[in-house]
Parts: sequence; C-alpha cells; structure tokens
Amino acid sequence: MIVDLICIGNELLTGLVNNTNAGYLARQLSSAGIAVRKCSVVADEVEAIKEAVAEGLRRSDAAICTGGLGPTDDDLTREAVSAILERPLRLHQGWLARLETFFETRGYHRMPPANRKQALLVEGSTILENPRGTAPGAVVEHGQKLVILLPGPPQELQPMFEEQVLPLLKARRQGRIMLTKTLKCIGLGESLLEEKIKAVGEWEQPSLSLVARGMEVLIQLKSFGEVEQAAQLLEAATDILRAALQGYLYGEDEETLAGVVAELFVRRGLTLAVAESCSGGLLADTITGIPGSSRFFKGGAVTYSLESKRLLPGLSEKLLQEHGAVSAATAEAMARGVRDFFKADAGVGITGIAGPESDVSGQPVGLVYVAVSLGSSTEIRELNYAATRRAIKERAVQAALTLLWRRLSAGNAP
Ligand code: ATP
Repeated sequence: MIVDLICIGNELLTGLVNNTNAGYLARQLSSAGIAVRKCSVVADEVEAIKEAVAEGLRRSDAAICTGGLGPTDDDLTREAVSAILERPLRLHQGWLARLETFFETRGYHRMPPANRKQALLVEGSTILENPRGTAPGAVVEHGQKLVILLPGPPQELQPMFEEQVLPLLKARRQGRIMLTKTLKCIGLGESLLEEKIKAVGEWEQPSLSLVARGMEVLIQLKSFGEVEQAAQLLEAATDILRAALQGYLYGEDEETLAGVVAELFVRRGLTLAVAESCSGGLLADTITGIPGSSRFFKGGAVTYSLESKRLLPGLSEKLLQEHGAVSAATAEAMARGVRDFFKADAGVGITGIAGPESDVSGQPVGLVYVAVSLGSSTEIRELNYAATRRAIKERAVQAALTLLWRRLSAGNAP
C-alpha cells in the first residue's frame, strides 16, 4: 500500500502555518506499514489540487488530502476532487442538518450561508465523522484507488485519521510491507548510544537509524516482510534495545518525555511544583500541556528577578549574594523552596543565562542549573549549551524532565 500526501493551503506555502499534518501523517502511516511515495504542499487553487490528486491516483494506491474543506471561497478541495473524478457534488441532507444544529447550539441565530458548502460531498463518498468541527472528511473510491479528504486543523484531523482512516488503509495492505517504529532516548549522545546498540546486534533486519533532536536521540527501526513477520521482527528488536538501553530509553512512537513523566507522577501518587527563572514558565507550560496534569501538578512560579526569587522559602539574600542568581546553590534552593511553598512531593528549580548576552555576573550564555528535589535529596545538573535563547530554554526543560524521569522510573525510590 503506497500513498501520496497532499497538504493544501496558501498559509502552508507562505510559512504562516507549519505543516505539522505532513509529519504526523507520515509517522502514522509508516509505522502502520503504509509507504508515503510523495508529500506535496499545494496552493488553494483548483488546478494545483487537481494536478496533485491526479498524480497521486496514477502513481499510488491513495491520495490523502488535508485542508481546504472549510466554508470560505478559498476552500476548494471538494471542487477539485469532484472535477478530477468527474463526479458531481451532492448536498448531504444529514450533514446539513448537523451543521444547522451545530450553529444553533452555539448561540447563533442561524447558520452562516457560507457553511452550507461544507455539506457538499463528491458523489459516492463515504462520510468521515468530525465531532470537533464543521467539515466532514470523506473517502471516495475510484476503481481500486482511494481519494481521502481530511480537514486541516490537527485537532480534527488526528482523531478522524486514527479512528476512521487508518483501519481502512491497514485492511488494504497486501504482501510484504515496511513497518517502522521509533524508540526515544535521552541522556546519552548519538555516538555512545550507537556503541551500545552495536554491542547487542547486527541491525540489518530490522535496519536502524539514529536522529538527534535536542537532548534526545530517536532510533528508527524499519522491518520488511509480511505484516505478522515484520511486526514480530520489530517487537523482538525492541525487546533487545529496551534491555540494552535501560535508563536512556524512555518511550516509543508518539510518546513524549513530559507525557511519560506525567504518567509516573500519577502512577506513584506524587505531586510536583516548579520554580523557573531562565525557562520563563516553559516547564509549567509543557507539563500543563499534558491532559490530566492537574492530578499531580500543584503549581509553579516564574521567579525571574532577584526580588521574586527571594519570595521562595529558604532563598535568602545572603545565599543569592554568596553564590549568585545563576548557581547550583540557587537552583537547589529554588527546587526546595517551591516544593515547600506548594507542599508538593517534588520540586524543580531552573536558573541560567538564556542570552543572547550575559548578565551582570559575566557568566557564559547557555550556563543553566537544573535541580530536582524529591524525597530526602536534591540532584543538580549544570548544563553548558551555547545556542539560541529558545533552544537554551528547551534544553533546560528537557534536562529537568530527564532528571524527574530518572528519579521516578522503575526501581528508584522517591
Ligand atoms: P476549516 O473547516 O477549519 O476551515 P479546513 O479543512 O478548510 O478546515 P484549512 O482552512 O485548510 O482547513 O485550515 C484550517 C486551519 O487548519 C489552518 O489555519 C491551520 O491552522 C490548520 N492547518 C491546515 N493545514 C495544516 C497542516 N498541513 N498542518 C498543520 N495545520 C494545518
């Protein structure tokens, strides 16, 4: 099974919106053994969309389109697919009724007339439900091939794809396929990780490649064979790597370090509070981005200035003067202080110099101290990472999450 991905929208071509749908769909498809032959980004123009869909139908088993299903004049995906397949657009009465109810229940006097267009479907389409939006998705069969239309907004596209499209595509897989799996590691550089991996196998089938991303290294495994056989090869390889990379391998595929840490907090019934200086709240944002974080996250403080740092219990003027705002001692006191203040089981302190210029202390840009206070001990890490302001903040957050993950992972007492 081979597909073409076609992401539609002028905003993608101008860079106003990052094309995250392409990455998401490519990951989902390749880990299900469905190869992406080509991924294109096209303008909101009927001719451009027609060309891309026609090529997809010629060269692949399916053309998957995202975007351009909205109510405005520049949403032209339906029209283009209708033209290329030479099938008219028909009003779907059921979806029209749904749209009218959707607007009524949201306090509109009536549905804006432009939205009527969203109930138009290419003749012979199967509708894909969209509980989060007004645009239905659609699957159109064209001989042995498929054209699949998905809405642009990721929060609408993702559940629709996983629940309604992926099962359909998987059922069409035949013969030998390529399955992929991504293992995610933290706390060890690419070359040392590669040494460990080489020490436990040859890695031809499945094959293996490494990609560094911030402090993480992603290991992509690829196996080729009949569905069952390819899946078994991946599972066996994953077991070997889990054992060989214990303490570094934190998750797989769509899992995130923050998500894994959140699960550990919930599973262990512990709570967390954070005090952030140079990361400016990015750690709290990352944590509260995880659904259900209220079950363990008690709160945070952005203690950016010296005055605000002094508001934390135990962080005295004397300590700041002796050690400086960017120091191991201050990070440690921030972690303990915020933990006390919020009466949490764990506390994190982050202080550093995000640049692009140093502060009055003259310490180097990229110097960051991260501390985690849990149980009766506090661990502190010094990072030195000269990079952009944003990258330094992200590294600090990754370092804090890594420390938390290590402390909370199996076998480690809180
Ligand atoms: P709507 O009914 O919301 O108009 P739509 O199917 O018409 O949905 P578009 O109008 O093309 O989708 O895009 C709506 C929004 O979805 C965009 O402004 C953007 O925020 C997001 N979006 C669209 N395409 C992508 C993409 N490839 N990657 C990430 N986000 C996207």
